[in-house]
Amino acid sequence: MMKRYDVVVIGAGVSGAAIARRLSAYRLSIALLEKEIDVSFGVSKANSGVIHGGFHHSPDLLKSRLEIQGNLMYDKLQRELHFPFRRCGILVAAFSTEEMRIVQELYNRGVANGAIGIELCNGDRMHMLEPKLNSDVMGGLFAPGGGIVEPYRLVFSLVESAVLNGVDLHTNFDVAGVEKSGKTGSEDREYVLHGSDGQSIRGRWVINAAGLFADRISGLFGAEDFRIHPRKGEEFLLDREASAHTGRVIFPVPNPVSKGMLVIPTVEGTTMIGPTALETDDKEDLATSSENFEKVFYSARRLIPSVSERDIITSFAGLRPSLEDGDFYIARSEKAERFVQVAGIQSPGLTAAPAIAEYVKDLLKQGGLELTEDPDYQGEIPAVPRFRSMSLHEQDAAVKADPAYGNIICRCENVSEAEVVAAIRRGHTSLDGIKFYTRAGMGRCQGGFCSYKILQILRRETGLPWEKITKRGRKSWIVRERISPAKTS
Ligand SMILES: Cc1cc2nc3c(=O)[nH]c(=O)nc-3n(C[C@H](O)[C@H](O)[C@H](O)COP(=O)(O)OP(=O)(O)OC[C@H]3O[C@@H](n4cnc5c(N)ncnc54)[C@H](O)[C@@H]3O)c2cc1C
Repeated sequence: MMKRYDVVVIGAGVSGAAIARRLSAYRLSIALLEKEIDVSFGVSKANSGVIHGGFHHSPDLLKSRLEIQGNLMYDKLQRELHFPFRRCGILVAAFSTEEMRIVQELYNRGVANGAIGIELCNGDRMHMLEPKLNSDVMGGLFAPGGGIVEPYRLVFSLVESAVLNGVDLHTNFDVAGVEKSGKTGSEDREYVLHGSDGQSIRGRWVINAAGLFADRISGLFGAEDFRIHPRKGEEFLLDREASAHTGRVIFPVPNPVSKGMLVIPTVEGTTMIGPTALETDDKEDLATSSENFEKVFYSARRLIPSVSERDIITSFAGLRPSLEDGDFYIARSEKAERFVQVAGIQSPGLTAAPAIAEYVKDLLKQGGLELTEDPDYQGEIPAVPRFRSMSLHEQDAAVKADPAYGNIICRCENVSEAEVVAAIRRGHTSLDGIKFYTRAGMGRCQGGFCSYKILQILRRETGLPWEKITKRGRKSWIVRERISPAKTS
């Protein structure tokens, strides 16, 4: 019998995960569908990880309101979900009186949006706040409420919390077809969602949080006609030891299409520079280029002169799922019943996600969904012990309790076998899923040392044969099937 849910959320990125978790506080049956092998493998995996300060966008945009509100929700969220997050503050650096004029506009916007504690600074104050800044910086803006987060860990934690509170997570569920049943406007009206591999589920309400593919999902439901335009952002990651590592996130003065290329001290101690902002038609195009590498380094070095190509360990790209008018489109559909659009969630989607979830919850309530609080709801999830964050005494105790803590799998990031096993037992069964959950493979050698060890543990823990293990699901196999018998002599 096909299961029937009160609410089906399509897309387990930060938007869908935050919505599913928020709704799990009520007595509802909820399904979270994701087409990839793991959650957070869409836009939410590849971004700058900045919790924005509320001064970049005009106060009349929905995304400004949700940015400010979302930002303020992060402290409580982190206490409950234990993901890496730090309010390190944001600086916008100006090099001329013309740029200072734009900074003044950003300040006015921030004040109008309600950003707490933002400050206009002269050059001395800027250099006091970040000594590594270019000495030519003549002033700027300081937003103390801005911060940094490990974006995939945030999504993993949101989903763990949702699942703990009864949400059914279905990965590898690529929504490819929809049927409607019951009469229009009647209580028995519901949707049957079909996956591309033949699986199906039923739901009364559907939330479209499909990121880059929200336009396709809207079309399947006969809802609003819009197009998501991907805007590519290439980012470059520098080693933990990079001398360019700053104490705060450093922005240049923005231009009309982009906030510009930044220098970001990631919450886990590396340094990231980027992103670019280039329109593309291809929703799968995640390539980086040497041409953009030059541009990003030039721009980053202008802000922080110690940025060096020698520190680069990897590069990646993400695609912003943008709409023509540049705002978020979050609304109950006017064409499809009990269908909610969460589309155009480009930056600051990560920052706004907790507030997007509140907003969607209110839309559902206004649309007639009964929301009764669940007395058994648990806001907090158990923290996962991380070997690298333990004191020597704690490490010693951890190894005595479980010798797998004593077997270091990833030397660059100091990740133990016990943590890899914990990731697999929480459902992360691809090499990338384990990498993003534990950080194994994210360091200087980029998995050169640990990938084979992780494959062995995966094989042992899941029983999957070598050739069925993938890097990131679908056809990303790592080991080819044997095509002739091995010579034994
Ligand atoms: C380069 C870059 C830098 C950014 N930097 C920041 C930043 O610093 N701060 C900030 O606040 N924001 C930032 N953003 C924006 C932020 O990353 C996004 O707003 C956010 O991740 C969007 O999340 P989402 O859940 O809406 O989409 P996604 O994360 O893409 O989630 C949608 C999910 O739906 C799934 N899906 C799609 N189609 C189907 C289907 N048919 N069936 C089932 N599942 C489906 C996808 O696989 C995906 O996992 C940045 C974005 C980029 C690209």
